[in-house]
Amino acid sequence: MKEVKPLHRVEIKTTEKKYQGVLLERPALADKKYIVLKLDNGYNIGLEKKKIKSIRDLGSVKAGKHTKPGRENKGDKPHVSVIATGGTIASRVDYLTGGVHSAFSAQELISAVPELKSIADIRGKQLYNKFSENIQPGDWVSIAKSVARELDDKALGVVVTHGTDTLGYTAAALAFMLKTPVPVVLTGAQRSSDRGSSDAALNLIHSVKTAAESKYPGVCVVMHANLSDDISLIHNPARVRKMHSSRRDAFQSVNCAPLGRVSEKEIILHQEYTPRVNKPELNTKINEAVSLIKYHPGLKPQVIDYLVDSGYEGIVLEGTGLGHTSERLFDSIKAGTDSGILFCMSSQTLNGRVNMNVYSTGRVLIDCGVIPCADMLPETALVKLMWVLGQTKNRKKAAEMMLTDYVGEISDKSHIKDDLSVFES
Ligand code: ASP
Repeated sequence: MKEVKPLHRVEIKTTEKKYQGVLLERPALADKKYIVLKLDNGYNIGLEKKKIKSIRDLGSVKAGKHTKPGRENKGDKPHVSVIATGGTIASRVDYLTGGVHSAFSAQELISAVPELKSIADIRGKQLYNKFSENIQPGDWVSIAKSVARELDDKALGVVVTHGTDTLGYTAAALAFMLKTPVPVVLTGAQRSSDRGSSDAALNLIHSVKTAAESKYPGVCVVMHANLSDDISLIHNPARVRKMHSSRRDAFQSVNCAPLGRVSEKEIILHQEYTPRVNKPELNTKINEAVSLIKYHPGLKPQVIDYLVDSGYEGIVLEGTGLGHTSERLFDSIKAGTDSGILFCMSSQTLNGRVNMNVYSTGRVLIDCGVIPCADMLPETALVKLMWVLGQTKNRKKAAEMMLTDYVGEISDKSHIKDDLSVFES
């Protein structure tokens, strides 16, 4: 079969049918017996080479000019840095196996979205190529340090691309570890960029726009707002959660309104933000001896005993309702707090707040030494407890810090408006 370069428009006749579309590059690991064609309706199909009777080259298509990896702008011009860590945003689907491969480098990702160049000068940096289920607390530290280096190197703002599964944990960790006078935006994608329905390009464009133009002084998350391709929401990194396994609008702020929204036309932040710091400050000390346990009927006290005996120093409980566990855990929790372990309570209802004064169960847990974490998300409480126990060994001080608001992760009052209506006026 005649060799045609990828990103050329082609007409292909197979033993069964005639197709027109754009020939796509294949990931290095993909099956060599097939080619992948992007059809005009946006769908990609795999064609078996041995069934192809003829292939006509209709010329190259105008795509984002691919540049070599590395820095594009070596000068002193303000720039936005894009740090790639992997995830679906940097992946392609193998249409034969249906598997998703990590495939794009930071530079390929940037080159594939030409709109970015009209927003800012972009510098790409590849930190990892990991799916986020493989990201560990030590990686949060590396990401925070890498962001701080880009900020020291005069970035107007930084975008971190990340897998969506644990993006919320990394976002919360960066928020506690890094104070920044300029935007640091985390983003990802639910659908890989070679799919017609991909959210990768829009999320990247809106994230770079937020990093370059919003002047928001802190860490935030920018992801699709709805099912159309026009608006993204800007979320507090310690309040955001992936709430759907596949929808493009999966990321939602919980217990608060989003910080703002971004469209091609404008960025709206629904509050004035003043920088907390003049230059970046990094505090990456964490203590990983912390776990998050979801209470469920049948949970045995031995699970708590095991963590206590294994040297854990903090345990976040995801309790029922207002913050409860079965009474059969009480003795183990009390023994744990007596030996100096900090227990914190969050709620598996996610929305609403823990109130452990209503039922006797809650009051007994308070007497056992459990700290009620108000309206903090369980995952945020986990990340915060790791960070807090990295700052102090003093249990009383750590308990105070857990109830101190550092980045908007906890509030005294329940929010009043939690949807897009905050933007209507
Ligand atoms: N499993 C992938 C990850 O978190 C999913 C994604 O990126 O959307 O890396």
